Amino acid sequence: MLSTAELYSKFQECTGISTDTRRITADCLFVALKGANFDGNQFAEQALASGARYVLVDDPALANREGCLLVPDSLTALQDLARFHRQNLSIPIVGLTGSNGKTTTKELIAGVLAKNYRTYATVGNLNNHIGVPLTVLSINEQYEMAVVEMGANHQKEIELLCSIAQPTHGLITNVGKAHLEGFGGIEGVRKGKGELYDYLARNGRTVFINSRDTTLTAMYRERLKAIRSETTFAEAIFYPGEPIDLIQESPVVIFRTESGQDVTTHLPGRYNFDNMLAALAIGQYFGVSPEDANRAVADYNPTNNRSQVIYKGSNTILLDAYNANPSSMAAAVRQFAAMAAKRKVVILGDMYELGQESEAEHAALGKLVAESQFDVVILAGKDMKFALDSLPKAYYIPDKFSLHNWLMDHPMTDTHILVKGSRGMGLESVVPFL
Ligand code: ATP
Ligand code: MG
Repeated sequence: MLSTAELYSKFQECTGISTDTRRITADCLFVALKGANFDGNQFAEQALASGARYVLVDDPALANREGCLLVPDSLTALQDLARFHRQNLSIPIVGLTGSNGKTTTKELIAGVLAKNYRTYATVGNLNNHIGVPLTVLSINEQYEMAVVEMGANHQKEIELLCSIAQPTHGLITNVGKAHLEGFGGIEGVRKGKGELYDYLARNGRTVFINSRDTTLTAMYRERLKAIRSETTFAEAIFYPGEPIDLIQESPVVIFRTESGQDVTTHLPGRYNFDNMLAALAIGQYFGVSPEDANRAVADYNPTNNRSQVIYKGSNTILLDAYNANPSSMAAAVRQFAAMAAKRKVVILGDMYELGQESEAEHAALGKLVAESQFDVVILAGKDMKFALDSLPKAYYIPDKFSLHNWLMDHPMTDTHILVKGSRGMGLESVVPFL
């Protein structure tokens, strides 16, 4: 069996790393992972034939196959390798987690930092126990700074991801009702996300905290108390330091800086304003000029189904089909309710991963939607039927394809349409029918 250091020297001979046979590049390291329905070891031969230099395997049957590097467990070896690599990098890494807005905030922070530094950021949403090691292993000497998104759906996951990415700076975007099932309720979410604060405090690193978010400020104080017996503390930066005013939040955010400049962005909603404030604070901390930071925030235009504003014919579509949970749904519905528009339609899909709380949360969403004056409410998905109690006039269309047909039969004009649901619902597919 190879030690991590030996493995690392093999990794350094490689030109990249992959866990997916469809993404093998010449001379890469292929990591054979196991999933629920597959065993990566079975693809070792194929990976080598496709040009991989080495394959990290944990099947002893492959011990003597040339090119295979045998370890007791491929996933653990991947994580150890990333941890080892991180120790050889001396750059600042901003780690961020939170229930909502991680990817958006990550992109905003990276955009701002890129004004002054060669910045690497998590690609897409590679934020879990596999994605974070892959992200860290992709940071090479050419970079001066990195932004790493960390996702979690159970306790101790952020602790593990921190031990790998070893962030020098960190941010929790917010704590809300997401992944309630795995975390064991909202208290569990606070505890799980708080592991980032623990790591930063224990290691004397820097924490950015949204001073207007009372949950986060309280949480930070609690966590500090809990680890007070230890010697080191984090440097806490409460932001925003200077007034930045929200001038408009829909259809897109416009904010006014301290110097009186109005900045028009491409993102809707107060919650995205919070994401922007985080990016501006981190930029300021690292010495990016306010002009450059504002420009970076103004230029960020998502193309990933998150918070997209799409103008189609006479309709304005707010597409938020990338994910949904009770907090982000409530934020989106409230924001849409407050928006000025001639005619408003909401198309809402199931929120996944709520376990036992699914029925109650869908019912609560129904109540919230009922309080707003939407012209038409369309509910899609299995659990959305629980929202119907409060919404007797809503259209309930369980599956996506019937929804497409319904939309074809009911064309809309001059309408603002909010589309939001969990990733698995794939609600972006309705856009062509609007
Ligand atoms: P994931 O858990 O899938 O990685 P994420 O935390 O990276 O999600 P984003 O992909 O940035 O989050 O945003 C997903 C959706 O969450 C957005 O489209 C928006 O509806 C909502 N959202 C974004 N920022 C916030 C926020 N600060 N507070 C509440 N909801 C938010
Ligand atoms: Mg994300």
